[in-house]
Amino acid sequence: MNKRSIVIIGAGLAGLSTGIYAQMNGYDSSIVEHHSKPGGLAAAWRRGEYLIDGGIHFLIAHRPPSPIYDVYTEIGVDVPESTVDMKNYLRFVDDTGEREVDFTSDLRQLEHDLIAISPEDEKEIRQFLREVEWMKDSPLLTDLGMSAAPPELKGRFDSLKELWQMRGFMKYFYGKYSRPAAEFAKNFHNPYLRTMFENLFSPDGPIWFVIMILATVGAGQLGLLKGGCPGFVLPIEQKYKDLGGKIRYNATVDKILVEDDRAVGVLLRDGSEHRADVVVSAADGRNTIFGLLGGRYVDDRIEKVYGTWKQYDPSVIVSLGVARTFKDAAPLNMFMLKDTFLLGQRTIKVLPLRVLNYSDVFAPPGKAVIQVMLETDWKYWTELHNDKDAYDVEKQRVAEMVIQRLERLYPGIRPQIELVDVATPLTTWRYTLNNRGSPMGWLMTKETLMTQLPRRLPGLDGFYLAGQWILPGGGVPGCIYSGRNVVQLLCKEDKRAFRTSA
Ligand SMILES: Cc1cc2nc3c(=O)[nH]c(=O)nc-3n(C[C@H](O)[C@H](O)[C@H](O)COP(=O)(O)OP(=O)(O)OC[C@H]3O[C@@H](n4cnc5c(N)ncnc54)[C@H](O)[C@@H]3O)c2cc1C
Repeated sequence: MNKRSIVIIGAGLAGLSTGIYAQMNGYDSSIVEHHSKPGGLAAAWRRGEYLIDGGIHFLIAHRPPSPIYDVYTEIGVDVPESTVDMKNYLRFVDDTGEREVDFTSDLRQLEHDLIAISPEDEKEIRQFLREVEWMKDSPLLTDLGMSAAPPELKGRFDSLKELWQMRGFMKYFYGKYSRPAAEFAKNFHNPYLRTMFENLFSPDGPIWFVIMILATVGAGQLGLLKGGCPGFVLPIEQKYKDLGGKIRYNATVDKILVEDDRAVGVLLRDGSEHRADVVVSAADGRNTIFGLLGGRYVDDRIEKVYGTWKQYDPSVIVSLGVARTFKDAAPLNMFMLKDTFLLGQRTIKVLPLRVLNYSDVFAPPGKAVIQVMLETDWKYWTELHNDKDAYDVEKQRVAEMVIQRLERLYPGIRPQIELVDVATPLTTWRYTLNNRGSPMGWLMTKETLMTQLPRRLPGLDGFYLAGQWILPGGGVPGCIYSGRNVVQLLCKEDKRAFRTSA
């Protein structure tokens, strides 16, 4: 069989997945990656004896049987070995530090706790948890409609069948649960509940996404990565290499080469050309379309998406290596602050705290890494960066604001802090080239969720897109599926059956 060659831009989850399925299906693929290691946003970095994990907080569908689980396995992840159950999604602590609510799989307990805080919100609480209960039992929870063929390969009958399967989910895309969490939270009378529901995930994201996460906890389908991001990403990279795939690191693509409206390869920053029959970009969408391709292959739909859609805001991540174990802490905590502080134009009212003490990869015995991730503004940090000293001073100030508040929550913590690491949106951009340091691409909204983003560009042959910029909300399963889908399309073009093993 004549092997078509493929060059893939980016060794994030989408790029690696594209490569793996390409190799499984007899293509001759190679990946060019800007950074010195794989994973993209699924990133971690070593600081002395601490491993700072700056990516994936939890993995959806980490237990069999589920189509998503099968896909993790296909691409080389030993999921039971790499994960532990996340039994408590989030602990929410009020500003007195005394009232706390655990969002665990025990929905009856959760209902009881929430109603005890706010009896006047009983009806809304019960209704909300009824949705969680319903979704928990839906087979679509661990599939999310992803295992179906990519839209380009669906016939009318498949689309109708899918609509029928998804019918129960449609209410989330239109009704009250499609609203952003911040808006939905206004339904509650109690201010503590309001803050809670606003901050269970992103305030800008739809509340049904929170329902879905709570349902996955309820169904025992949310896992923590024992080995952090490297424990998940490195086996995937290894699988790709074992299948004969080649990766070039520190190789930034500056241009996609096009001849007669067909992509024929890439031009790297070092001036070298890398030619192939097919080019797949699993890198930032805007840079790919308007930068690497010079904006020559766009239509009204693409202009509209890139001109009007909102992205997830970037974050500043303060990580601390601490000689303390945080024995009873939940992996994710949200503390309401009595003394708020300013981050650029934003007032920080809650402190989201991630505690990485559930495996020994993050810190030596008796120690742990804890992390506060605050949504922030790209412009604020880029303007600051014009004056490197001011930028560094602001990083230190944010760390100090965080430590001061943690000292109240965990008295005696300051002298136990052995390491302070601050990553800004510019750090994320520098290592992944994602537009404005966005952690998950397009914000999920009613409009974005109902729009199919094209995997191909109008007028350009031999070219495909994969990754978080073609599916609002990004996320691990979706990005992996996006790579798989590209290879399904290639197989269809080449009239060969799609394979999921070597
Ligand atoms: C802090 C954080 C927490 C998260 N938590 C979760 C979670 O708990 N659960 C979940 O499901 N998802 C989570 N996500 C989202 C998820 O990690 C991402 O959506 C997903 O990893 C994106 O994968 P990707 O391959 O599409 O893109 P990326 O990871 O951005 O990969 C793109 C790759 O392309 C490379 N690249 C870009 N431009 C070029 C170029 N010109 N030349 C060469 N290479 C280039 C980049 O260096 C990068 O490696 C989180 C994200 C972040 C940042």
